[in-house]
Amino acid sequence: MEFEAVIGLEVHAQLLTDSKIFCGCSTRFGAEPNHNTCPVCLGMPGVLPVLNKKVTEFALKTALATDCQIAPFSIFARKNYFYPDLPKGYQISQYERPLAEKGWVEIEVGGRKKRIRLTRIHLEEDAGKLIHEEGVEGAFSYVDFNRTGVPLLEIVSEPDIRSPEEASEYLKTLRDILRYLEVCDGNMEQGSFRCDANISVRQRGQEGMGVKAEVKNMNSFRFVQRALEYEIARQKEILEEGGEIIQETRLWEENRGITISMRGKEEAHDYRYFPEPDLIPLKIEPSWIERIKESLPELPGERKERFIREYQLPPYDAGLITGTKTLADYYEQCVKLYSKTKVVSNWLMGEVLGRLKSEGREVEQCPVTPELLTGMLKLIDKGTISGKMGKEVFNQIWASGRSAEEIVKEKGLLQLSDAAEIDEIVDKVLADSPAEVEQYRAGKDKLRGFFVGQVMKASEGKANPRMVNEILKKRLGR
Ligand SMILES: [Zn+2]
Repeated sequence: MEFEAVIGLEVHAQLLTDSKIFCGCSTRFGAEPNHNTCPVCLGMPGVLPVLNKKVTEFALKTALATDCQIAPFSIFARKNYFYPDLPKGYQISQYERPLAEKGWVEIEVGGRKKRIRLTRIHLEEDAGKLIHEEGVEGAFSYVDFNRTGVPLLEIVSEPDIRSPEEASEYLKTLRDILRYLEVCDGNMEQGSFRCDANISVRQRGQEGMGVKAEVKNMNSFRFVQRALEYEIARQKEILEEGGEIIQETRLWEENRGITISMRGKEEAHDYRYFPEPDLIPLKIEPSWIERIKESLPELPGERKERFIREYQLPPYDAGLITGTKTLADYYEQCVKLYSKTKVVSNWLMGEVLGRLKSEGREVEQCPVTPELLTGMLKLIDKGTISGKMGKEVFNQIWASGRSAEEIVKEKGLLQLSDAAEIDEIVDKVLADSPAEVEQYRAGKDKLRGFFVGQVMKASEGKANPRMVNEILKKRLGR
């Protein structure tokens, strides 16, 4: 039997508003426990929630950027469950009438484009956080309500995903879109971009769906991929042995590289959803949608296509550079100052990104500005410095923030392009190696590299390699 995986993803994206979804408390991460709280987000009796307008605007931006249809009229619902991190005993979410439906995101895997449909996008509030002491006698559990009421966008995909690679690509694409819109920082490790996966396995060609398991607790792209690979293999094995899959929620355990059963999967009716009586239905004016539509920035997919077209970049370069808005902006500032678009992309993907990554810095913290980088590239083009020296100069710009011209002048790094001076060095090298000269003349061609190396060494790496080769050729006869 040949099996295929059927995967649907639920993403929870924390929105980058200053205040919570239904009260004025700060959403700042890392505050003292229980400092960002008030009677509303603590669920005290007699208080009323008020919807944050900015939250709604961010949700609409996301819905429009993913081609969703926006409901003219949506309602909030109570999702009832009891847990110590949920002070009200229910979460305000949306159920039967979500804010937006039927969108799509386009991904590219192995050079093939594919649309992943979105079922819905809705708004909800986050729960608090439990902290359990471990390994101490008489251990306590603590609850921190700072996160309670932080705005979340839930983005649910159709089960269109067929492999862990597609899942990972879908998540990256979605995260890039949210970052371009500046509505979510997309940080999986800090939990501001979280993902649950519904996975089932069926015989290839079969129409219906198998019993699915929900996998939680995957807080990096790599974990998602590993957890899905594991879960698909687990389900295939059970089916191949004639067993049955149980509908349940499973946790990814990164340390052990397995998923483990957490609980039986709840059905919607377990939550006893009903319309939230404390909030009026959300009615979106078409004119507001129009205004937001006009304000949308160029999105990563569009920008990638434009980079391929306008700067003749290979799709790989264009995809990588447009992955974040700041990197794409940096690139465009460079090519405004310096026209060799592929040269800029090579330096960006090589030296600049490599250095940023090794120092754990973001593009906006790059000490080499587009002006400094392109200033150096122009010196290479003029022959003032060699490409090899460029890397050294780049390191010095990085460390000092000074221009390439200043550094070259001060350190005497100028490339030696004076024919008379090179002539002199070549003379000396040949005079010092009579045996090699004789062997070369007798036909030992590979000694050519030896002479070049000696000349470069004698010039402390400064001689123009093209001229060195020309002069050697003249002197040695070929
Ligand atoms: Zn509050």
